[in-house]
Amino acid sequence: MLTVDTLQRITEFNGDGLPVLSVYARVNPANRTDYQSQVGSLLHQMRAVADDPDLSHEAMVSLRDDIAAIKAASEQPQPDALGVAYFCCSGRGLFEQVELPRPVRERIVVDQTPWVQPLTLVLEEYHRLRIAVVDRANAHFWDLYQDEIEDRGRLRDKHLRKPDYAYGDREYETRNKVETLARKHYRKVVEQLAEDARNREFDLLAVGGHEEELPEFVDFLPRDLRDKLAGTFQVDPNVAANSDRGVLVERARAILEKWERAEEERLVAETYERRAMRAPAAIGLPECLWGATTAAIDLLLVQEGAQAPGVVCDESGWLGLRGDTCPICGKQTRETPDVVDELVQAVMDESASVEHVLVQGTRLESDLVAAKLRFPLPPAEFDQA
Ligand SMILES: [Zn+2]
Repeated sequence: MLTVDTLQRITEFNGDGLPVLSVYARVNPANRTDYQSQVGSLLHQMRAVADDPDLSHEAMVSLRDDIAAIKAASEQPQPDALGVAYFCCSGRGLFEQVELPRPVRERIVVDQTPWVQPLTLVLEEYHRLRIAVVDRANAHFWDLYQDEIEDRGRLRDKHLRKPDYAYGDREYETRNKVETLARKHYRKVVEQLAEDARNREFDLLAVGGHEEELPEFVDFLPRDLRDKLAGTFQVDPNVAANSDRGVLVERARAILEKWERAEEERLVAETYERRAMRAPAAIGLPECLWGATTAAIDLLLVQEGAQAPGVVCDESGWLGLRGDTCPICGKQTRETPDVVDELVQAVMDESASVEHVLVQGTRLESDLVAAKLRFPLPPAEFDQA
């Protein structure tokens, strides 16, 4: 699991005079054996750089070690990822391998700092869910990210049992004390969550607990945490803590999925609404391809599984559905079985966001792609479709 700490270490790393090698590779699920030779040929492009006489001896040694380290890592069996990113600076002890849930364009980059942009754009689509299982005296935190769960520790407070004998003022006093302690505990839990949220440890929150205590705790959430609340679920905190982690994962995943589908629906509705209001938007492949060619796209929505043949000009970056020659530069185009994938990679290259839409039954299902634009599409002097 990619932790916040790892991501931070990568993004904040500086070679301090030594080169940092960043490699992005694609895994073809149909042919995973390709992977090694693919990474090998990417690394091969770097050999000449490593032999550059202008490099200091230290930099040269570090870069050669980077190449060897990434090559060795690529020869290990690869997990179920669709892409892999490597960040390496051997002379300063950096080696990170990050598995990506989406394919990325193959790249090799050497610079003073890791090249993280494609990584952050892919990960932006995945939400980190903090699960807080709370009762009146305990809280247990978990993080769910890309289907993996991590225990983030507990918070225990003093606890008074509610008396089951009852008489007069004494009962009232005890009950009062119980309430006060519970409130104190809830405040502490909320403070902890607020701090972790500020440190970007999670972006969504799910709260589990006893049916009658859930609303009590949710009332304590300040505005910014409530905005992150994706849902609540009933669970016996003892069961959640001790035995069945599977139940916890299942409930949390259901909440996350429901939230994500609702979010997708909202984004699709917003984009079509923009069109209706004559705000900059692109609907369907011809417009979105032109939008990517002109770097107009701010957010691209892609129906999951969408695929369509098309053409690409590797010279000017023009994307189209057909045509032997590029209408912009006149060069010969390259045919591709999936221009949607080319579109996604082009949009990421422009540092714009991509959201894969899994929810079905929206208008996007027939249009395949739609986009919010930064500015209206420039008129094209040719037929884009
Ligand atoms: Zn061209």
